[in-house]
This record gives sequence, structure tokens and C-alpha cells, in this order.
Amino acid sequence: MKYMQISVVVVLVASLFFGCGKERPEAVDRFETDVTGADRLYHTFDAVLAELNQLKADHPQQVHLFSLGQSVKKRPIPLVRMDFNNGTVSSRYLFVAGTHGDEAAGVEALLYAMKALLQMDEAARNSMVKKGVEVYFVPVHNPDGFIINERENGRGVDLNRNFPFGYETQKMEPETKALVDLVNSVDFSAGIFFHSANDEKYENVVRVPFELSRGKVAMQQEEQARVWRLAHLIEAAGNKLNSPIKYRSSREMVDASGIASDWCMSAFVAGAQKKLVRLTCRNPHPSVTVELCYPKQPMKAERLQQEKDEAFAIVWAILNEF
Ligand SMILES: [Zn+2]
Repeated sequence: MKYMQISVVVVLVASLFFGCGKERPEAVDRFETDVTGADRLYHTFDAVLAELNQLKADHPQQVHLFSLGQSVKKRPIPLVRMDFNNGTVSSRYLFVAGTHGDEAAGVEALLYAMKALLQMDEAARNSMVKKGVEVYFVPVHNPDGFIINERENGRGVDLNRNFPFGYETQKMEPETKALVDLVNSVDFSAGIFFHSANDEKYENVVRVPFELSRGKVAMQQEEQARVWRLAHLIEAAGNKLNSPIKYRSSREMVDASGIASDWCMSAFVAGAQKKLVRLTCRNPHPSVTVELCYPKQPMKAERLQQEKDEAFAIVWAILNEF
């Protein structure tokens, strides 16, 4: 499905938005690729880059491309920023997919949501512009894994167990570090990490973070409330489309640390314990993991379309209501 291995060269230009010099993410004019689009159910990595180039070509005012950083195998990690504002931004949101390279449904769903956002009608666009919104998308967080259809990155590391968490420190992979740096430099109102379910038991789950469920360290109550509000908003948006599998929020299966959404929760811990928490997100925000579907790569177009529609409904609800 994604076995084409194509080396990608990024044309780097000085970053206008994130400051000058060699800071990351670096703005790019376009991602280097010979491919012009996807002609299969699933995009190859190269086709993803081509799609992003096309989004920018079609919507130069809204779409800005960046290389968030490089994967272990030196591929660019694409980052897209979409602007729906008149220069004043009140809310910034982060959507990430493809952290596990074999969870292709999430990548397709997020690409679809990105396109749908740009095609919304005038009234819908105006409501977002009025709010002052900036949306950040990382559609393929793990390019090396995505290309060979493997869960882990190019060094065999599970990136969604590699984030800093509470007292625990571990060596961050370049893909992890790139995302951590982004979140530490941008003040997000919410962060959503799209995944696929591991087995039938966990399909369409909005998974709330570890700390919230285990209480290893106490989170501020108002922050807990924000996380639950986000989770319930996502649940409602997913269920509005009559998904054959109901969305639900869950605190199950959150027994592993180093998950992206947990990491930002670490900064929500109550006062006295805060100083004990290291390497946490400097801009704490409610963040959850959404397990979009089972299986990871549905082969029926209608089934995949359902996941795409649900992802767009979720993104739309968050941008408008959270
Ligand atoms: Zn996953």
C-alpha cells in the first residue's frame, strides 16, 4: 500500500513566522515531489506531499507549509498552518495523525478534513475568521513508518510511548522532539491526536489522558473539566453522523506513559507537585487521543469515507465550539 520509497528534498526558505535563522519549523515553498495526486484509496507519502502543495496552490492566503523537522531517515515531517483570521488570533488548534505509521485511516481522514475546511461556505468561514483561528495540522507525524507501513519510526521506536511524562525522562526521537518543540512554542487551545483502534474493544474512543484517570499526580480541577468538555464535544460530533460504531470517552487502556496527550497533561498538575514535573509542555492545553476506527486501514471506500466524515465533524466542532 505504501511501499514506494521516494527520497524527498525540501526547499527551505527563511522562516517568516517562527523567527529567522535555523529555527524549526522551517517554512517551505513546496515539498519536492514528482507526484501530482493520489489515484488509490490511500495516499503514498509522496502523494501526501503533493496534496499539501496543491492545497497551498489553491488557497495561498490560508495555507502555509512548514517542515516541522526531520525523521530518523531524514524525511521532512510536513506541517500545515491554516489561517482563518484577520491578523488577530484568539485560538490555535493542533491536529496530528500518522504517529503510528500503519494507521493510514487517520492520515486519510485528516487530509480529508483539511480539504473540507478550505471548501466550506462563506458563512462558515466568516464565523471562524470572526473568532480568529489558526489551525496546525501534522498529517504524517512518522514518515519513515508510514512509508513501510510499520507502527514504529525508522529506528523501531513507538513514538506514542516516547513523549516526556511527569517525572519520567527518556530520550526523545527526532519526530517526538519536533512535535514537543512545536507545542512548547505555540499556545494551543486544544490538541487532538488521531489514531486507529487496536482491536474491536477500542473503536471510536476518545481516550482521556493517563494522569486524569490514574491520579498519579493531581490535576487542577478546572483543567480536568476542560479535558472532559473537549472529549464530550468530540464524542457528540462523531455520533451526530450515525456512525455504525458509537463514539465514547474512555479512561481505559491508559496504563502506558509517554503518550502524546498525556504529556501535555503533565503540566496541569497541582501547584506543589508542579516543580517535580520535568520536560512538560510549556503551553498546557486540553489534549486527547481519538481512536478513529478499527481496522487501521479499512479497504472499503465507504467505510473509509465514514471515518473521513467523522474526522471532519470532529475538527469542525472543535474549531467552532471549543
Ligand atoms: Zn496509534
